[in-house]
Amino acid sequence: FQPLVFGANDIPERPLYLDSSLPVRTRVENLMSLMTLQEKVAQMCQYVGLEHMRDAEKNITEEELLNGHARGFYKGLHSTGVERMVTRGEIGSFLHVLTPAEANHLQKLAEKSRLKIPLLIGIDAIHGNGLVSGSTIYPSPIGMASTFAPDLIEQASRQTALEMRATGSHWAFTPNIEIACDARWGRVGETFGEDPYLVSRMGVASIKGLQTDNLTGLNTVLACAKHLVAGGIANNGTNAGPVELSEGKLRNFFLPPFKAAIQEAKPFTLMPAHNELNGVPCHANKWLMTDIIRNEYGFDGFIVSDWMDMEAISTRHRIAENTTDAFFLSVDGGVDMHMHGPVFSDAILKLIKEGKLTEERINKACAKILEAKFQLGLFENRYVTEADIKKTVFSKAHQQTALEIARRSIVLLKNETLLPVDTRKFKKILVTGPNANNQSIMGDWVFEQPEKNVSTILKGIKEEASGAQINYVDVGWNLRALDSAKIEEAVQTAKSSDLAIVVVGEDSFRQHWKEKTCGENRDRMDITLWGKQHYLVESIYKTGVPTIVILVNGRPLATGWIAENIPAIIEAWEPGSMGGKAIAEILFGKVNPSGKLPITIPRHVGQISTVYNHKPSQFLHPYIDGDKTPLYPFGYGLSYTSFKYSQLKADKTDYDANEEIEVTVNVSNTGERQGEEIVQLYIRDDYSNTTRPVKELKRFQRILLEKGESKVVSFRLNREDLSYYNHKAEYVLEPGTFTVMVGGSSLDKELQKVKFNVK
Ligand code: BGC
Repeated sequence: FQPLVFGANDIPERPLYLDSSLPVRTRVENLMSLMTLQEKVAQMCQYVGLEHMRDAEKNITEEELLNGHARGFYKGLHSTGVERMVTRGEIGSFLHVLTPAEANHLQKLAEKSRLKIPLLIGIDAIHGNGLVSGSTIYPSPIGMASTFAPDLIEQASRQTALEMRATGSHWAFTPNIEIACDARWGRVGETFGEDPYLVSRMGVASIKGLQTDNLTGLNTVLACAKHLVAGGIANNGTNAGPVELSEGKLRNFFLPPFKAAIQEAKPFTLMPAHNELNGVPCHANKWLMTDIIRNEYGFDGFIVSDWMDMEAISTRHRIAENTTDAFFLSVDGGVDMHMHGPVFSDAILKLIKEGKLTEERINKACAKILEAKFQLGLFENRYVTEADIKKTVFSKAHQQTALEIARRSIVLLKNETLLPVDTRKFKKILVTGPNANNQSIMGDWVFEQPEKNVSTILKGIKEEASGAQINYVDVGWNLRALDSAKIEEAVQTAKSSDLAIVVVGEDSFRQHWKEKTCGENRDRMDITLWGKQHYLVESIYKTGVPTIVILVNGRPLATGWIAENIPAIIEAWEPGSMGGKAIAEILFGKVNPSGKLPITIPRHVGQISTVYNHKPSQFLHPYIDGDKTPLYPFGYGLSYTSFKYSQLKADKTDYDANEEIEVTVNVSNTGERQGEEIVQLYIRDDYSNTTRPVKELKRFQRILLEKGESKVVSFRLNREDLSYYNHKAEYVLEPGTFTVMVGGSSLDKELQKVKFNVK
């Protein structure tokens, strides 16, 4: 393996790098031999899309400007200036190019440049390519995680890759594989929840789906595992707040999803977190990005900075006196591409000139970025066509997958006989609440979608409630200012209804920047329902009408009185384009609910961070002003049928450390209808040298059981499942007794138990 050698040369008539029959490495090497240093640094520069930028130019406020919104940072460099830079080969990548026409336009400009290097276009396609109008929107990641079905997440990710490629993007800034256990944090909805194992499985599936066929062909996009690391437990639950964490805890809880992602799915890119970790901003953290991620885990792609976070090393964290020094710390630490703006390139050239950064470091970054462009086939296929868009985007097959996932993501929290709704009994149904008939079901990272593509909850109910009369009262969408007169109208309508369905929750809708209550930079200090929503629910319930509450939200909500009094409660999360249909199918019994919580729901903000995998001493003493148990535990979710677990067995009682352990359990459907169950396996290390969690999820399986059917479910555990990082951050497997627990939730009383010994 010869080291790559580069220099700037004249371009021959038919340069090798344009020959698609040659191996990628040869092409990269040839192209780089023709590039100037400036051109190489340009590949490390990312800019925001023109429309996004123009929009920012129009609407920006003084405050946003200060907070690093696009124009503030571009310091007067308008979109025409950016276009000129593209034709000069001064920009390697864009983010948020929101229309196919703009993608083609920019690629055309890039083709005019000396070396004709195509642009790599990235976008936050978090659950579908939501920033682009007309895309299929799948449930938010927290809903995806509730399915415990990685195969479905892989399928959605493949489809997302297709929709992205059809509309001109090649790189999804997803999955977010942070561990989320603080409901105040606005970004919980874009994570897979609180459990390292579940997050790992979902993260791996998502990357495999996006990077379809191992990044060959034209149906594939780069994935981006983010954010490195622990932003989900920032101090006070605020986005980008500081994090102090022992290395043992970091390695037991927060790094495993990154390790699994890198070793099992090879994400081509990675993004550090906004926050600092133990005094070092993640964007300047060489130990994290280089020692652990590259050297220990074997990450072999490139690292992109998050929005303005290189600058923040100086402006916010103040461990560098100026931006140039901040760029040095970041690039030297491991970051290969700068999101976003113009000052980066000059600063890097200055750092090289001063001998602080080596050209070799730049070559490394540039080579990886170019490798991605060749691998994705961009030199040969940089334009998108109307025909591709028509064939691919929001296709019937994609809608079907979005529906299948939504059906399985919805969690039935409570059901005292009202559900499924019998329309022979409940003939007049009131539907109301701020989230009943709008795009709040789409979740964060979605711009407004065409109305015809969105199955709102009201639409779904009207389609599925055969024969019933549906009366809708619109109380307004802005959660901070619901319409009081309309609330009274809803209460009056409730009095003459047989049933009320009230849809409340949070609002992650992007166009509601000011009113938005959930999503990035929408952290809260309270986790109860906003504004008059509680009043709405309580007033309707007090009319005596049987009441169902549907929650649409991207973070756990402490629903207190509602949880106690309302007889039927559905946690829908943000179920996406087909969400209304999926919810209605569950309401009226066409679909049996099967989602389980991927995160603990606290009773009160003061319980944060209550997690299921806590240490043994956590709940020794009760609170004097409330219950210490959570409102709903991790892994919990009801069904219209019932399941019985029996005969849990390990194949032996004593194992050598390297031996696999086989665990089997019998699961029966003891209810009246077919259903899907998520069988969960937890382990506990009974005694250990460093304290260990009371239980940890190690395996799960979603199974389908007909009425009366039983199945033996089997799991295999290995050495790694029993090992952990102790208080000295050493990775150990300690001999002794382990308890295996299997059941339908993390609640002790629902778990079968068996013990085995490891020598
Ligand atoms: C977020 C990233 C996102 C980026 C680009 C940042 O604020 O933290 O997750 O990819 O913006 O939109």
